[in-house]
Amino acid sequence: MTAREEKFTRQTVLEVQPLAPGLFTLRTTRDQGFRFRSGQFARLGVGKADGSTVWRAYSMVSSPYDEFLDFFSIVVPGGEFTSELSRLQEGDTLLVDKQSFGFLTLDRFGDGRDLWLLATGTGVAPFISILQDFEVWERFERIILVYSAREGRELAYQPLIAELGQRDHLAEYAHKLQYIPVVTREEHPGALHGRITTLIANGELERTAGLALTPEHSRIMLCGNPQMIHDCRALLKQRDMQLSLTRRPGQVAVENYW
Ligand code: FAD
Repeated sequence: MTAREEKFTRQTVLEVQPLAPGLFTLRTTRDQGFRFRSGQFARLGVGKADGSTVWRAYSMVSSPYDEFLDFFSIVVPGGEFTSELSRLQEGDTLLVDKQSFGFLTLDRFGDGRDLWLLATGTGVAPFISILQDFEVWERFERIILVYSAREGRELAYQPLIAELGQRDHLAEYAHKLQYIPVVTREEHPGALHGRITTLIANGELERTAGLALTPEHSRIMLCGNPQMIHDCRALLKQRDMQLSLTRRPGQVAVENYW
Protein backbone atom coordinates (compact mmCIF):
# COMPACT_ATOMS: atom_id res chain seq x y z
CA MET A 1 0.00 0.00 0.00
CA THR A 2 1.43 3.40 -0.95
CA ALA A 3 1.32 6.44 1.32
CA ARG A 4 -1.31 8.03 -0.93
CA GLU A 5 -3.59 5.00 -0.69
CA GLU A 6 -3.61 5.26 3.07
CA LYS A 7 -5.00 8.79 2.82
CA PHE A 8 -8.31 7.85 1.27
CA THR A 9 -11.13 5.35 1.58
CA ARG A 10 -13.12 3.64 -1.17
CA GLN A 11 -16.81 4.41 -1.01
CA THR A 12 -19.63 2.89 -3.03
CA VAL A 13 -22.04 4.92 -5.11
CA LEU A 14 -25.56 4.28 -3.80
CA GLU A 15 -27.54 6.55 -6.11
CA VAL A 16 -27.05 8.97 -8.99
CA GLN A 17 -29.85 11.33 -9.96
CA PRO A 18 -29.78 13.56 -13.02
CA LEU A 19 -31.31 16.93 -12.20
CA ALA A 20 -31.15 19.11 -15.29
CA PRO A 21 -28.79 18.94 -18.27
CA GLY A 22 -25.28 19.15 -16.80
CA LEU A 23 -26.31 18.75 -13.16
CA PHE A 24 -26.68 15.67 -11.00
CA THR A 25 -26.70 14.52 -7.41
CA LEU A 26 -24.71 11.60 -6.06
CA ARG A 27 -25.03 9.60 -2.85
CA THR A 28 -22.27 7.31 -1.56
CA THR A 29 -21.57 5.22 1.47
CA ARG A 30 -19.63 6.99 4.25
CA ASP A 31 -16.65 5.66 6.12
CA GLN A 32 -17.43 5.67 9.84
CA GLY A 33 -14.17 7.46 10.51
CA PHE A 34 -14.90 10.33 8.09
CA ARG A 35 -15.80 13.36 10.22
CA PHE A 36 -16.70 16.87 9.08
CA ARG A 37 -18.35 20.11 10.14
CA SER A 38 -21.36 21.10 8.06
CA GLY A 39 -20.15 23.48 5.36
CA GLN A 40 -16.86 21.65 4.83
CA PHE A 41 -15.71 19.83 1.71
CA ALA A 42 -14.17 16.47 0.83
CA ARG A 43 -11.54 15.68 -1.74
CA LEU A 44 -12.99 13.14 -4.15
CA GLY A 45 -11.00 10.93 -6.49
CA VAL A 46 -12.03 9.11 -9.66
CA GLY A 47 -9.98 6.77 -11.81
CA LYS A 48 -9.23 7.74 -15.40
CA ALA A 49 -8.92 5.40 -18.38
CA ASP A 50 -5.11 5.72 -18.29
CA GLY A 51 -5.04 4.37 -14.74
CA SER A 52 -4.34 7.68 -13.01
CA THR A 53 -6.62 9.28 -10.42
CA VAL A 54 -7.96 12.81 -10.58
CA TRP A 55 -8.99 14.64 -7.40
CA ARG A 56 -11.35 17.59 -6.85
CA ALA A 57 -12.91 19.42 -3.92
CA TYR A 58 -16.62 18.75 -3.28
CA SER A 59 -18.79 20.21 -0.54
CA MET A 60 -20.88 17.78 1.43
CA VAL A 61 -24.62 18.31 1.01
CA SER A 62 -25.56 15.79 3.68
CA SER A 63 -25.33 16.52 7.37
CA PRO A 64 -22.51 15.31 9.62
CA TYR A 65 -25.06 12.98 11.24
CA ASP A 66 -26.10 11.13 8.08
CA GLU A 67 -24.74 7.66 7.43
CA PHE A 68 -24.21 8.46 3.74
CA LEU A 69 -22.53 11.30 1.83
CA ASP A 70 -24.46 13.44 -0.64
CA PHE A 71 -22.83 15.56 -3.32
CA PHE A 72 -24.23 17.93 -5.96
CA SER A 73 -22.22 18.24 -9.16
CA ILE A 74 -22.01 20.14 -12.35
CA VAL A 75 -20.76 18.48 -15.54
CA VAL A 76 -18.13 20.70 -17.10
CA PRO A 77 -17.97 19.89 -20.84
CA GLY A 78 -14.58 18.21 -21.31
CA GLY A 79 -13.83 18.66 -17.59
CA GLU A 80 -11.14 16.26 -16.41
CA PHE A 81 -12.95 15.29 -13.22
CA THR A 82 -16.63 15.71 -13.97
CA SER A 83 -16.37 13.75 -17.25
CA GLU A 84 -15.42 10.75 -15.09
CA LEU A 85 -17.69 11.49 -12.13
CA SER A 86 -20.75 11.82 -14.32
CA ARG A 87 -20.12 8.32 -15.70
CA LEU A 88 -20.37 6.67 -12.27
CA GLN A 89 -23.35 4.44 -11.57
CA GLU A 90 -24.78 2.64 -8.58
CA GLY A 91 -22.21 0.17 -7.24
CA ASP A 92 -19.18 2.03 -8.64
CA THR A 93 -16.33 3.23 -6.44
CA LEU A 94 -15.53 6.81 -5.45
CA LEU A 95 -12.36 7.67 -3.53
CA VAL A 96 -12.78 10.01 -0.57
CA ASP A 97 -9.80 11.60 1.20
CA LYS A 98 -9.88 10.67 4.88
CA GLN A 99 -9.59 14.29 5.92
CA SER A 100 -12.29 16.96 5.54
CA PHE A 101 -11.39 20.54 4.69
CA GLY A 102 -12.62 24.10 4.64
CA PHE A 103 -13.64 27.09 6.71
CA LEU A 104 -17.14 27.82 5.42
CA THR A 105 -18.58 26.77 8.75
CA LEU A 106 -20.46 28.48 11.56
CA ASP A 107 -17.15 28.64 13.42
CA ARG A 108 -16.36 31.73 11.33
CA PHE A 109 -18.84 33.73 13.36
CA GLY A 110 -18.82 34.19 17.11
CA ASP A 111 -22.02 36.19 17.12
CA GLY A 112 -24.71 37.63 14.83
CA ARG A 113 -28.49 37.55 14.69
CA ASP A 114 -29.31 36.95 11.00
CA LEU A 115 -27.51 34.42 8.82
CA TRP A 116 -27.57 35.08 5.07
CA LEU A 117 -26.55 32.11 2.90
CA LEU A 118 -25.92 33.30 -0.67
CA ALA A 119 -25.19 30.66 -3.32
CA THR A 120 -24.89 30.34 -7.06
CA GLY A 121 -25.37 26.94 -8.74
CA THR A 122 -23.74 23.99 -7.01
CA GLY A 123 -22.55 26.46 -4.36
CA VAL A 124 -25.78 25.72 -2.51
CA ALA A 125 -24.27 22.37 -1.40
CA PRO A 126 -22.61 23.46 1.89
CA PHE A 127 -25.68 25.48 2.85
CA ILE A 128 -27.94 22.44 2.54
CA SER A 129 -25.56 20.65 4.90
CA ILE A 130 -25.58 23.58 7.33
CA LEU A 131 -29.39 23.71 7.23
CA GLN A 132 -29.62 19.99 7.98
CA ASP A 133 -27.51 20.48 11.10
CA PHE A 134 -29.24 21.56 14.28
CA GLU A 135 -26.72 24.20 15.36
CA VAL A 136 -27.69 26.89 12.86
CA TRP A 137 -31.33 26.84 13.96
CA GLU A 138 -30.40 27.36 17.57
CA ARG A 139 -27.82 30.08 16.98
CA PHE A 140 -29.60 32.45 14.61
CA GLU A 141 -32.94 34.24 14.81
CA ARG A 142 -33.33 34.51 11.06
CA ILE A 143 -31.79 32.39 8.29
CA ILE A 144 -32.12 33.60 4.72
CA LEU A 145 -31.18 31.13 1.99
CA VAL A 146 -30.64 32.88 -1.34
CA TYR A 147 -30.04 30.37 -4.12
CA SER A 148 -29.39 31.53 -7.65
CA ALA A 149 -29.51 29.44 -10.82
CA ARG A 150 -29.68 30.33 -14.50
CA GLU A 151 -32.96 28.50 -15.12
CA GLY A 152 -35.73 27.42 -12.78
CA ARG A 153 -35.22 23.72 -13.58
CA GLU A 154 -31.62 24.01 -12.32
CA LEU A 155 -32.75 24.73 -8.76
CA ALA A 156 -31.86 21.56 -6.85
CA TYR A 157 -33.09 20.20 -3.51
CA GLN A 158 -36.40 22.06 -3.66
CA PRO A 159 -38.37 19.30 -1.85
CA LEU A 160 -35.64 19.01 0.79
CA ILE A 161 -35.60 22.77 1.41
CA ALA A 162 -39.39 22.81 1.62
CA GLU A 163 -39.58 19.98 4.15
CA LEU A 164 -36.72 21.13 6.41
CA GLY A 165 -39.10 22.92 8.75
CA GLN A 166 -41.32 19.86 8.96
CA ARG A 167 -38.58 17.67 10.38
CA ASP A 168 -39.58 16.81 13.92
CA HIS A 169 -36.54 18.29 15.63
CA LEU A 170 -36.68 21.51 13.54
CA ALA A 171 -40.43 22.13 13.54
CA GLU A 172 -40.34 24.75 16.31
CA TYR A 173 -37.64 26.68 14.38
CA ALA A 174 -39.25 26.54 10.93
CA HIS A 175 -40.34 30.19 11.07
CA LYS A 176 -36.68 31.26 11.15
CA LEU A 177 -35.94 30.19 7.57
CA GLN A 178 -36.77 32.26 4.56
CA TYR A 179 -35.95 30.77 1.18
CA ILE A 180 -35.41 33.18 -1.71
CA PRO A 181 -34.74 31.44 -5.04
CA VAL A 182 -33.22 33.62 -7.74
CA VAL A 183 -33.26 32.82 -11.46
CA THR A 184 -31.09 34.87 -13.79
CA ARG A 185 -31.98 33.86 -17.36
CA GLU A 186 -35.76 33.63 -17.26
CA GLU A 187 -38.76 34.69 -15.23
CA HIS A 188 -39.59 31.85 -12.85
CA PRO A 189 -42.67 31.71 -10.61
CA GLY A 190 -41.80 32.41 -6.99
CA ALA A 191 -38.21 33.42 -7.77
CA LEU A 192 -36.53 36.80 -8.00
CA HIS A 193 -35.15 37.65 -11.41
CA GLY A 194 -31.59 39.01 -11.76
CA ARG A 195 -28.13 38.57 -10.35
CA ILE A 196 -27.62 38.41 -6.59
CA THR A 197 -25.29 41.39 -6.82
CA THR A 198 -27.92 43.48 -8.63
CA LEU A 199 -30.53 42.46 -6.07
CA ILE A 200 -28.25 43.59 -3.24
CA ALA A 201 -27.31 46.84 -4.98
CA ASN A 202 -30.90 47.82 -5.78
CA GLY A 203 -32.25 46.75 -2.37
CA GLU A 204 -34.62 44.11 -3.75
CA LEU A 205 -33.08 41.28 -1.76
CA GLU A 206 -33.50 43.09 1.54
CA ARG A 207 -37.03 44.19 0.63
CA THR A 208 -37.98 40.60 -0.18
CA ALA A 209 -36.44 39.32 3.05
CA GLY A 210 -37.98 42.19 5.02
CA LEU A 211 -34.60 42.52 6.65
CA ALA A 212 -31.63 44.87 6.30
CA LEU A 213 -28.03 43.79 5.77
CA THR A 214 -26.14 45.43 8.66
CA PRO A 215 -22.71 44.90 10.24
CA GLU A 216 -24.35 44.58 13.64
CA HIS A 217 -26.83 41.80 12.89
CA SER A 218 -25.92 40.15 9.56
CA ARG A 219 -23.52 37.29 9.08
CA ILE A 220 -23.12 36.37 5.42
CA MET A 221 -21.80 33.25 3.73
CA LEU A 222 -21.07 33.32 0.00
CA CYS A 223 -20.43 30.21 -2.08
CA GLY A 224 -20.03 29.34 -5.74
CA ASN A 225 -19.05 31.56 -8.64
CA PRO A 226 -15.87 33.56 -7.83
CA GLN A 227 -17.13 36.61 -9.73
CA MET A 228 -20.33 36.69 -7.67
CA ILE A 229 -18.29 36.35 -4.49
CA HIS A 230 -15.88 39.10 -5.51
CA ASP A 231 -18.68 41.49 -6.46
CA CYS A 232 -20.77 40.73 -3.35
CA ARG A 233 -17.77 41.27 -1.11
CA ALA A 234 -17.21 44.68 -2.71
CA LEU A 235 -20.86 45.64 -2.18
CA LEU A 236 -20.81 44.45 1.42
CA LYS A 237 -17.53 46.24 2.10
CA GLN A 238 -19.18 49.51 1.10
CA ARG A 239 -21.54 48.81 3.99
CA ASP A 240 -18.75 48.02 6.47
CA MET A 241 -19.08 44.26 6.25
CA GLN A 242 -15.78 42.44 5.90
CA LEU A 243 -14.29 38.97 5.67
CA SER A 244 -14.21 37.21 9.02
CA LEU A 245 -10.64 36.21 9.82
CA THR A 246 -9.20 34.53 12.89
CA ARG A 247 -7.27 37.67 13.79
CA ARG A 248 -10.15 40.02 12.91
CA PRO A 249 -13.71 38.76 13.31
CA GLY A 250 -16.03 40.02 10.58
CA GLN A 251 -19.39 39.45 8.95
CA VAL A 252 -18.50 37.56 5.76
CA ALA A 253 -17.25 34.02 5.00
CA VAL A 254 -16.65 32.73 1.46
CA GLU A 255 -15.87 29.63 -0.59
CA ASN A 256 -14.80 30.06 -4.22
CA TYR A 257 -15.49 26.99 -6.35
CA TRP A 258 -12.91 27.82 -9.02
P1 FAD B 1 -12.17 21.92 -13.93
O1 FAD B 1 -11.02 21.87 -14.88
O2 FAD B 1 -11.88 21.76 -12.48
O3 FAD B 1 -12.98 23.27 -14.13
C1 FAD B 1 -13.12 23.84 -15.40
C2 FAD B 1 -13.97 25.09 -15.33
O4 FAD B 1 -15.32 24.73 -15.06
C3 FAD B 1 -13.62 26.07 -14.21
O5 FAD B 1 -12.56 26.90 -14.56
C4 FAD B 1 -14.92 26.81 -14.07
O6 FAD B 1 -15.02 27.80 -15.06
C5 FAD B 1 -15.95 25.74 -14.32
N1 FAD B 1 -16.47 25.12 -13.06
C6 FAD B 1 -15.81 24.29 -12.21
N2 FAD B 1 -16.61 23.93 -11.18
C7 FAD B 1 -17.80 24.52 -11.40
C8 FAD B 1 -19.03 24.52 -10.70
N3 FAD B 1 -19.19 23.80 -9.57
N4 FAD B 1 -20.06 25.25 -11.20
C9 FAD B 1 -19.91 25.96 -12.34
N5 FAD B 1 -18.76 26.01 -13.06
C10 FAD B 1 -17.73 25.29 -12.60
N6 FAD B 1 -18.18 21.53 -7.83
C11 FAD B 1 -19.40 20.96 -7.79
O7 FAD B 1 -19.97 20.66 -8.85
N7 FAD B 1 -20.00 20.69 -6.59
C12 FAD B 1 -19.42 21.00 -5.41
O8 FAD B 1 -20.00 20.74 -4.33
C13 FAD B 1 -18.14 21.61 -5.44
N8 FAD B 1 -17.49 21.95 -4.28
C14 FAD B 1 -16.30 22.60 -4.34
C15 FAD B 1 -15.68 23.00 -3.14
C16 FAD B 1 -14.48 23.70 -3.19
C17 FAD B 1 -13.81 24.13 -1.91
C18 FAD B 1 -13.86 23.96 -4.44
C19 FAD B 1 -12.54 24.69 -4.52
C20 FAD B 1 -14.45 23.54 -5.60
C21 FAD B 1 -15.68 22.86 -5.57
N9 FAD B 1 -16.30 22.42 -6.76
C22 FAD B 1 -17.54 21.86 -6.68
C23 FAD B 1 -15.64 22.52 -8.07
C24 FAD B 1 -14.95 21.16 -8.34
O9 FAD B 1 -13.85 21.01 -7.48
C25 FAD B 1 -14.43 21.05 -9.79
O10 FAD B 1 -13.92 22.25 -10.23
C26 FAD B 1 -15.53 20.61 -10.72
O11 FAD B 1 -15.89 19.31 -10.38
C27 FAD B 1 -15.10 20.61 -12.17
O12 FAD B 1 -14.00 19.73 -12.33
P2 FAD B 1 -13.44 19.42 -13.79
O13 FAD B 1 -12.12 18.74 -13.66
O14 FAD B 1 -14.49 18.68 -14.57
O15 FAD B 1 -13.25 20.85 -14.43
